[in-house]
Amino acid sequence: AKRAGRNDYHFYISSMDAGAQAEFDLENALRAALARSELFLDFQPRVDTSDGRMLGAEALLRWRRTDGTVCRPDAFIPIAEASGLILVIGAWVLKEACQACRDWQDGPLRDVGVSVNISQLQFGRENFLQLVMEALREAGLPPHLLELELTESMLMEPTDAVRQRIAGLKSLGVNLSIDDFGTGYSSLAYLRRFAIDTLKIDRSFIADMADDPEDASVIHAIIALAISLGKRVVAEGVETQRQADLLAALGCHEMQGHLYSPPVDAARLAEFARRRGAA
Ligand code: C2E
Ligand code: CA
Ligand code: CA
Ligand code: CA
Repeated sequence: AKRAGRNDYHFYISSMDAGAQAEFDLENALRAALARSELFLDFQPRVDTSDGRMLGAEALLRWRRTDGTVCRPDAFIPIAEASGLILVIGAWVLKEACQACRDWQDGPLRDVGVSVNISQLQFGRENFLQLVMEALREAGLPPHLLELELTESMLMEPTDAVRQRIAGLKSLGVNLSIDDFGTGYSSLAYLRRFAIDTLKIDRSFIADMADDPEDASVIHAIIALAISLGKRVVAEGVETQRQADLLAALGCHEMQGHLYSPPVDAARLAEFARRRGAA
């Protein structure tokens, strides 16, 4: 028979492995982080291959822990997703990014757009379109300055609701991109079906492109595909001039990576724009 008592509970806790306990602690700390405003956004420039000017910036989430250390998203997004906290966090990121981009329009970052990473769970919610509209309206941001970074898996087996959501986003006037392109599913049928504006080539392909002919071929194919479908293509994780030169020769429209700038705060982003020019 099933017994539920204090002792069983203690037994459960003490036998929880260290990993599960650490996850549980992290989830609670993350819950508190929201309330204490420990989350913030950095922004990484996206530059025009042809003239080096900044066209947009990707919002990247950071968490300043109470001990002062800054935590990168790979360390806490999976837990935010598993616990559902990503819904609250994702809504906050959308609003914060729209607000920031609205502020940019009055200075050297005029006409620079913002792109926001969307998690699968967030995108799957019925109220997603509503959230995007609210974020735009509250910030007073023109929709064409917002880009949502989706992933291939969100578009693979679309339900009617997903189709409608995408149509709704497009009619709002926001831009849609596919993040980490090339790492997901092999079927490309969804590219025809959906009005995706931009493909972002995953960093893993860029990292080895100069030495690995297979990575170079994948990149070549993605860029050719994007161009023939009339979409923009962005390379992420560009670190060396050699990579940039190869990508430029292949016709890649935009670059993002440490060669240009790491993710930085809004003040440094404005400085970057002053130095290099913006949109
Ligand atoms: P991502 O969307 O692929 O973002 C690009 C990642 O590559 C960022 O890591 C960025 O700092 C890093 N990066 C950019 N240029 C270079 C480079 O030249 N070299 C190298 N080695 N790395 C580069 P970050 O900021 O740690 O973010 C990791 C991932 O966390 C993101 O990958 C994204 O999937 C997720 N993420 C970040 N912010 C959010 C958010 O607000 N919401 C959601 N759902 N996910 C987010
Ligand atoms: Ca991204
Ligand atoms: Ca990416
Ligand atoms: Ca990624």
